[in-house]
Amino acid sequence: MSSDWDASTTADATEPSGALLEVDGLAAGYDTGQVLFDVDLAIEEGELVSLLGRNGAGKTTTMHAIMGADEPAVLGGDIRYRGESIVDWQSHRRANRGIAIVPEKRRCFPRLSVVENVRLAINHAQNPLGLDEALAFFPELDDMRGKEARNMSGGEQQMLAIARALAANPDLMLLDEPFEGLAPYIVRRIEDIVADINAEQGITVFFVEQNVAAALAIADRHYVLDEGHIVDEVTSDRIREDEEFRQRYLGV
Ligand code: ATP
Repeated sequence: MSSDWDASTTADATEPSGALLEVDGLAAGYDTGQVLFDVDLAIEEGELVSLLGRNGAGKTTTMHAIMGADEPAVLGGDIRYRGESIVDWQSHRRANRGIAIVPEKRRCFPRLSVVENVRLAINHAQNPLGLDEALAFFPELDDMRGKEARNMSGGEQQMLAIARALAANPDLMLLDEPFEGLAPYIVRRIEDIVADINAEQGITVFFVEQNVAAALAIADRHYVLDEGHIVDEVTSDRIREDEEFRQRYLGV
């Protein structure tokens, strides 16, 4: 591993060419200070790619910037979707264009049922799937259509959060720590769902994760973020083989 961790050394490796999503020199932060520095990413249509990094590396901040959340403030750089700059767009315009997010900690409406949660997403989307189509990937949810989200397990809520994003019929799905806090057998189920959504539905997937094993199980290309800088773009094999790299940047 090179000791030269200047983010500019990775820029050429991620040189965009017709990517679905391109993040180019992104700088972003909060009132408390800058968090992202010169972040470059390129996700091709049909890919399944992860963004890895320790606690506080800036992963969620990156996702929120791509989705156009109120925070962080974008301080510089560009975000392009299908070649068009979206960095100044409101989040609903990005969603209407085909970008859906599965937020950290699921954020389902606790007192709404499975069907009501999914219907809300359908009603807000420009070109949604039907209810049955959105639930087709989740036999578990189909069996509990009337159940309120607050009475569901973490894994079931994660499926519901993914079903809501899927209901919007997106081209690009962003997931923020989809495996966080889930039991191992549920992690495997969610891995299968995310992999199927990519392989069978043809939806491009970009996800943030701290569970490195789960990320390696479904993606083969990973960006590594450290203290707001992209320090490398690596394959699963590279992460498996390089213990020093894992410890240094992923804490495992
Ligand atoms: P985690 O896995 O812990 O969520 P992360 O890699 O997703 O980590 P971020 O949540 O993006 O990291 O946080 C990056 C930095 O930005 C941290 O120092 C965090 O304290 C700070 N930060 C995040 N959200 C805010 C906010 N709303 N206001 C101020 N600072 C924030």
